[in-house]
Amino acid sequence: MRSAGNILVSKVAVIGAGEMGHGIAELAALRGFDVTMRDIKQEFIDRGMDRIRWSLGKLVEKGELSREASEAALRRIGVTLDLKDAVRDADVVIEAVLEDLEVKKRVFADVDAHAPANAILASNTSGLSITAMGRATRRPGRVVGMHFFNPAILMPLIEIVKGDDTSDETVREAEELARTLKKTPIVCRKDIPGFITTRTIAPYMLEAAWIHHEEGVPKEVIDSAMRFKVGFPMGPFELADQVGIDLIVYATEKAGFPAPPPMKDLVKAGKLGRKSGEGFYSYASGNRPAITPDLGKGFDPTRILAPTIGVAAGLVEEDVASPAEIDEAMRLGTGFPKGPLAIADDIGLDVVLTTLRGSRRYSPAKILESMVARGDLGVKSGKGFYPYLKEAESMAYETILVSRDGATGVATITLNRPDRLNTLVPLLLEELERALAELERDDSVRCLIIAGAGEKAFSAGADITSFGDVSKSHRVWQMTRRTQDVFSRLADFPKPTVAAIQGYALGGGCELALACDFRIAAKRAKIGQTEITLGLVPGAGGMARLVKLLGLARAKQLVLMGPKLTADEAHAIGLVSEVHGNEEFPAAVKAFAEKLARGPPIAMRLAKHVLNRATDVPLDAALEAEAMAFGHVTSTEDLFEGIQAFMEKREPKFKGA
Ligand code: NAD
Repeated sequence: MRSAGNILVSKVAVIGAGEMGHGIAELAALRGFDVTMRDIKQEFIDRGMDRIRWSLGKLVEKGELSREASEAALRRIGVTLDLKDAVRDADVVIEAVLEDLEVKKRVFADVDAHAPANAILASNTSGLSITAMGRATRRPGRVVGMHFFNPAILMPLIEIVKGDDTSDETVREAEELARTLKKTPIVCRKDIPGFITTRTIAPYMLEAAWIHHEEGVPKEVIDSAMRFKVGFPMGPFELADQVGIDLIVYATEKAGFPAPPPMKDLVKAGKLGRKSGEGFYSYASGNRPAITPDLGKGFDPTRILAPTIGVAAGLVEEDVASPAEIDEAMRLGTGFPKGPLAIADDIGLDVVLTTLRGSRRYSPAKILESMVARGDLGVKSGKGFYPYLKEAESMAYETILVSRDGATGVATITLNRPDRLNTLVPLLLEELERALAELERDDSVRCLIIAGAGEKAFSAGADITSFGDVSKSHRVWQMTRRTQDVFSRLADFPKPTVAAIQGYALGGGCELALACDFRIAAKRAKIGQTEITLGLVPGAGGMARLVKLLGLARAKQLVLMGPKLTADEAHAIGLVSEVHGNEEFPAAVKAFAEKLARGPPIAMRLAKHVLNRATDVPLDAALEAEAMAFGHVTSTEDLFEGIQAFMEKREPKFKGA
């Protein structure tokens, strides 16, 4: 018996043994529940059981499940054709019959008549009214939506839907059950057609189909743009084929978004997508459609993103869920990169609004109008659906820009003297130091990118003439120590740092990059400790840090000969960790930093500290520091989260506690 909220759940009944029903039954059995699966014909039950056996077999084959655990799960699943038999002693009934409200209402009435009075009755509908199903029973307060995703065993989300009559207690128990099933629950607080996920992903596919239909834009062009420019795992046409075009037409019409005629024609012709061998694309070869990045270059993805953002914004307006909940549901349930509202902040809400105003099919949510009227435009204004940099702070710097992405935890300091190749002057160092101090304190910042404005230079080095009278050696000494202090502060910054080198990183610019934990370069970058070519020597870590990073021989080569290395040459000797094409560079840096930002903050801080000191102190002292760091992380909540997530095969959510 497993605890789920106040109730103790031991038995789950699953009604329907189809695509979803068999997966839900398998999942519940794997998590230790006794399951009874019911369908209306023996052949459907047999097929469901075959699929469960196949899936468990795959898990065993991949080493993710022991043979004993697989057999035990199978033993926990009973099957029946008799509804009464299935639900008689169930604590939770999960309905997964076909998507038809009348059929579902009948099933709910039947289940209600035979299930124990306190059992939760849940529907796996993708968007039909939970309230209507509840009202077909005598226990509307115990009826709730539990929307699993396909394949149920692998997809990490369960969308919990509160019907108009669903009690708060039932919602809490459903959330708890989802966690016991090792899934992330997101609550959709209102029973609106399509809930959060179906409602928001619908325009992604429909708008693409309309543009294709009305303007003749090839589907490959749109699919390419959405995949390679935005980062969706599938373009809208391929996704529609995957989901099933019949389901989309049916579900989206119910949610009030009409599908264009060609989609309906495909359904009439039996071309329903992958499951029928053909939909928008043919799957005769068994392969995914051949889509290349170049195809979508000329298509503006905002045209398709804007309607999805409009729908998601409407959900915030109606208090269906918070922006963070909506984005998480879309990421986990549909693979939406970043989530629609975080993307809206990146694009700019004014741009989204203008695009929606130009559309005949979608009217912008009021919330978008009022946010834009208030000047909340997203990242560029410091506030959108998420907070970014406060206006006062952005005004506070003259030579750098500081931005914080509240959605990902990545902050960026951009050296902002592009007309001077982002050379280092005293004011810039002062501002850099101030920004580092501020970002250090901000717990929402989990990773820092140091970048240069413009395409030419990360930083072409120190502008020595700006440091005052360089004929006085003590002045130069002071200035050098000052630069070292700031760079050391960066090197000791308690969160991971990434230098995004898109152009020249020379002299002091290279030293600045060396003070970061990682250096990522664009193809066009040129990197070098070039002081010697001017008759100078590096003064801000370009010798000391370089020796530590690359060893004495390489450091001598770079310092004594002063070559300007290409990005690939720098990569070959380990000076930079990754090289990317100039076009892909910004997205690659972002992805790299976001990955670091998802790491466990305390463990990262300690590891960085120990690594930074490792070569400075005797081995026994370094080992002692390592043991202390190890001891310290064992008392963090993040460690439990990491282990838990590992066992549940999901991505951990570290809190820094
Ligand atoms: P499916 O057609 O594969 O399976 C439905 C099963 O229910 C069939 O085996 C059918 O015989 C059975 N059934 C019909 N009436 C029944 C009854 N009275 N009692 C018992 N069984 C009955 O459909 P599916 O794809 O599994 O979808 C089921 C539900 O899950 C729908 O509400 C759908 O919207 C939802 N859903 C589907 C997906 C998906 O990707 N397929 C994802 C999330 C949610």
